[in-house]
Amino acid sequence: MPHEPLWLPPDGQIWADIGHTLTSKGTVQAILIFGGVIGLSELIKPVSVPMDALWPREWPMAAQVVLGLVVAEFGLYWAHRVAHEWPPLWPYHAVHHSVKKLWIVNTGRFHFIDSLISIVLGSGVLFATGAPLEVIQWLSAITAFIGMLTHCNVEMRFGVLSWVFNTPELHRWHHSKDLSEGDKNYGENVMLWDWIFFSHYNQKRRPPLDIGIKEEMPPRFLQQLKYPFTAEIRWKNKDFSQ
Ligand SMILES: [Zn+2]
Repeated sequence: MPHEPLWLPPDGQIWADIGHTLTSKGTVQAILIFGGVIGLSELIKPVSVPMDALWPREWPMAAQVVLGLVVAEFGLYWAHRVAHEWPPLWPYHAVHHSVKKLWIVNTGRFHFIDSLISIVLGSGVLFATGAPLEVIQWLSAITAFIGMLTHCNVEMRFGVLSWVFNTPELHRWHHSKDLSEGDKNYGENVMLWDWIFFSHYNQKRRPPLDIGIKEEMPPRFLQQLKYPFTAEIRWKNKDFSQ
């Protein structure tokens, strides 16, 4: 039961989607492995108060994962919001928003620099406060699941779950070309920080079919990797006057 039958035909982006998924998720994995092996918290410790004693390691794992979701989401929320609202970062995130349809394959279509910023802000505070690697692994699994779910072209209804979690109906608004709808719902997993910072958005009507960005994104993977570094597109992208 597709949410949008017009999104079923191929969009010519499958290899670019897979290329970005491999490079961006590869970056994330490298940081997780690097962080786990050498201990990012050990590196951060000399420049911070002894924060690594802050994490409640004695709590049940489920409670630690819930705490981790809320804490990490603060970093993820601001990484995402700044990528939309600060012009120098938008071209990196525009690679994700340039898709004209949503389906499971473009879940991981992120420029690797965009992913790098999110993972550093999202998991940095967890490493710094001494969260065990197991919590971070749980969060990675939940983020992967919710990410795939929110990009699925499947008709589903979530009701009140959309008040708490990021869901396909919320994320379709986030992909709207209309910035009054698209610059909303920045939460990756939970919507807490969207409520606190007034960016939660949902409507009874159907989200737009015509999604994407106003500027032109080159069609090929390598061109898209280069796109944000192209000087002339900086500061000119997106209509920031809205
Ligand atoms: Zn976005």
